[in-house]
Amino acid sequence: MDRKRMESLGKKRSVIRELFEYGNKRKAEIGDENVFDFSIGNPNAPVPKAVEEELVRLLTERNPVEIHGYTSAPGSAAASLTISFSALVEEGGEVIIFTPCFPEYRVYIETAGGKPVAVPCKEEDFQIDFERLESALNEKTSAVIINSPNNPSGAVLSEESIIRLSEILSEAERRFGKRIFLISDEPYREIVYDGIKVPFVTKYYRDTVVCYSYSKSLSLPGERVGYILVSPEIDGWKDVYAAVCGAGRALGYICTPSVFQHMLTSCAGLTADLSVYAKNRELLYGALTEMGFSAVRPDGAFYLFVKSPEANAAAFSERAKKYELLLVPSDDFGLSGYVRISYCVSENQIRRSLPAFRKLAEEYFK
Ligand code: PLP
Repeated sequence: MDRKRMESLGKKRSVIRELFEYGNKRKAEIGDENVFDFSIGNPNAPVPKAVEEELVRLLTERNPVEIHGYTSAPGSAAASLTISFSALVEEGGEVIIFTPCFPEYRVYIETAGGKPVAVPCKEEDFQIDFERLESALNEKTSAVIINSPNNPSGAVLSEESIIRLSEILSEAERRFGKRIFLISDEPYREIVYDGIKVPFVTKYYRDTVVCYSYSKSLSLPGERVGYILVSPEIDGWKDVYAAVCGAGRALGYICTPSVFQHMLTSCAGLTADLSVYAKNRELLYGALTEMGFSAVRPDGAFYLFVKSPEANAAAFSERAKKYELLLVPSDDFGLSGYVRISYCVSENQIRRSLPAFRKLAEEYFK
């Protein structure tokens, strides 16, 4: 590991975390209710009652060694992205990321010895630009990562897009005579609106690995629970699975927290009441577009990606702070000129923030 790189990663927070910490400081100074914190994807929907009850039952009724002890390695692997990149990316191999995307992908890919290659999405709908994808693929491509529903754009890849993507990747595998993994990062799988379906990627592309997290669907982001699914369709899937287990071992992820693994044996199919996000989306999207802001209506996740009314999104985010609005500038997501608004907050916060948004809008649109 490059110590200097680790030092700089440790010293400088991501722009999201920076704004989150600023928000905490500001809340201590002027009161929680006076800060409109839209910085981070901390889900607001209550944890399902059944999950809470099962956790209490496990903690009070079961033998502590069984509940808190090591589980069989690798457990259901957490830290699924770092493990997957470490397992699947060759040294110096390229990983295609579709921008805008979750900023940590770059950190994880580089730490795994890979090279992120950005392929911008089409800005009118944040869907994949297949021509750009085709020109980015080459003999060094190890993997492609997709994230649908998407952070930060809220876009959901349609079945046609997944089919087209699969055809292009299969063709590239034949042309370059190598395997190209498709890593599907799906923490927002269940958070979709208007009855939209999120296709199961394993049905369309053989060399698929799915990274799932319970952080958003069960509102448990602090508990670090998720899994990696290695498609059994992959030729030699047992070796790929072994590589995933090996990477988890090498990185020191012994197992997912035991209590949560036990809880999931009975609660894995549940979700929090995600309808709160649908309501928030309608409220925020409707109000902001009516004020003059523009955004692509999100089909999933809980982010609104709003076009900055000035070219410099960081300057716009700074100006929003005057009204105690915390909006994340988009540059670190790999696309400039937008801000991300996390609407996984109370409806009350959104309603109370609207006069502040209106004052901000008046600075630009009057
Ligand atoms: N992938 C995406 C697209 C995300 O937005 C996030 C978190 O916000 C993660 C992965 C990481 O999720 P977790 O906190 O469950 O590790």
